[in-house]
Amino acid sequence: MTIGAALERAAREHGAHEALVAYAEGVRLDYAGLDALVDQVAAGLIGLGLVRGERIGIFSPNNVAWAVLQFASAKAGLILVTINPAYRTAELEYVLNAVQCAALVLAPRFKSSDYIAMLEGIPADRLPHLRLRIVIGDAPSGMMRFDDIAAHADAASRAALVRLRQDLQFDDPINIQFTSGTTGAPKGATLSHHNVLNNGFFVGEGIGLRSEDRICIPVPLYHCFGMVMGNLAAVTHGATMVYPGEGFDARATLAAVSAERCTHLYGVPTMFIAELEHPDFGSFDLSSLRGGIMAGTSCPIEVMRRVMERMHMPEISICYGMTETSPVSFQTAIDDTAERRVATVGRVHPHLEIKVVDPDGRIVPVGERGEICTRGYSVMLGYWDQDGKTREVIDPARWMHTGDLGMIDAEGYCTIVGRSKDVVIRGGENIYPREVEEFLFRHPKVAGASVFGMPDAKYGEVPCAWVKPSAGANVTPEEIAAFCDGQIAHYKIPRHIRIVDEFPMTVTGKIQKFVMRDIMVAELG
Ligand code: ATP
Ligand code: MG
Repeated sequence: MTIGAALERAAREHGAHEALVAYAEGVRLDYAGLDALVDQVAAGLIGLGLVRGERIGIFSPNNVAWAVLQFASAKAGLILVTINPAYRTAELEYVLNAVQCAALVLAPRFKSSDYIAMLEGIPADRLPHLRLRIVIGDAPSGMMRFDDIAAHADAASRAALVRLRQDLQFDDPINIQFTSGTTGAPKGATLSHHNVLNNGFFVGEGIGLRSEDRICIPVPLYHCFGMVMGNLAAVTHGATMVYPGEGFDARATLAAVSAERCTHLYGVPTMFIAELEHPDFGSFDLSSLRGGIMAGTSCPIEVMRRVMERMHMPEISICYGMTETSPVSFQTAIDDTAERRVATVGRVHPHLEIKVVDPDGRIVPVGERGEICTRGYSVMLGYWDQDGKTREVIDPARWMHTGDLGMIDAEGYCTIVGRSKDVVIRGGENIYPREVEEFLFRHPKVAGASVFGMPDAKYGEVPCAWVKPSAGANVTPEEIAAFCDGQIAHYKIPRHIRIVDEFPMTVTGKIQKFVMRDIMVAELG
């Protein structure tokens, strides 16, 4: 099925049901209304001269236009290029050219950035492929308004849209999504309708989604967490998408959950921590919540427990996946035991194969650590225009090598140990940062902990930790070191400990260990 067909089905089956609530914008659309609007915009895009297979970029935080464009570009047969809203001019220019965008839809601004000025700052001759510049709001000369796209629909473009309904294929590329950039430069994964629509459907099944459910989506739409696990899970189940606002704000998220009676809430661990720690946490009624998803990075056991108990989310699910696999491969089930739900990423998704291999590619015995590999419908078509990079991760037998280390027990439950790149090798001993982080989390004054390796002349590498104290708490590096002493093996105790207010993070809320490592190396040598 194509994404357009899935939306049409939702409009037929749940036409009068709320599809989208943009809480901050004050916009509400039912499925019939959303589908009608999407058709107008899709016909308008075709009327503007965009043809099947061309790339259209979206450079904006979460809003109604974003969702409309996601579905309209799919119906028009275009490939949506989701651009990180934290990008600046040079990165924007790079992405637009790397995938040869013919059109760009942009918000006027986000946080401290003026997007229009950024685009105007790139001389037109340096963007040879970009024909259309479309602003969500008022547009300066040379750019057009998003709301005016529909006016470019005519009889011919409407007829073309009807033909596309027949011609588009479920395995056509639909989306170029960039990875988070947690370990370095983001890579553009090319995904098909089939890849993402099915994954969204299975994720929704995994959280027991029903059409009367309402998912609060504070996670970015430019990333698969928002656009696939949020929007596509909702559309394939006729459920409601609730956007609390542009960019993550803990208070606004809690307010949207409470006012909109959301049943599900999504987030990366740092978002849930910010919500739990918010001084106004107690003043919101979260009793409508039942479940949600914590994913994107390793989910500390303590944080899971706090969310389950204090946020009324007994059914919360952990997912593991990556952009390259559309994204989810493993998910905990709502009826898994609490122990499994906090400590594992669950079992493999339907219709996917998995294996765990050693560095030589041999399958390891059950319960042993190795690299997780996945195969099936969810594996991307490839990195856009980077066949060499694609071959580095997808082998000839079509296994995707995730670069993540994990182990799978006899009943199929998977525990992610960390990224193979993050393992700290101190004088031949492997240290898995996640294990040390979980231990540091047990300290009552610790709200966040991140462990990474630093080069060391004697041992090759030594572990370091950045620690974020809980709200109002004071903690010293000496206290943390003393807490570890005698409790974990001496070689795992972080050699350098720094107390910080924030961690360097991607817009998706993932901690960038390479940035911390660079800072420590620059300071300590
Ligand atoms: P980049 O590839 O650009 O460095 P990234 O890998 O963070 O960034 P994504 O595709 O957004 O980009 O994230 C996928 C990665 O996130 C996985 O490969 C894994 O390392 C991590 N991850 C996702 N979910 C989980 C989870 N539940 N537990 C542990 N790690 C997770
Ligand atoms: Mg990655």
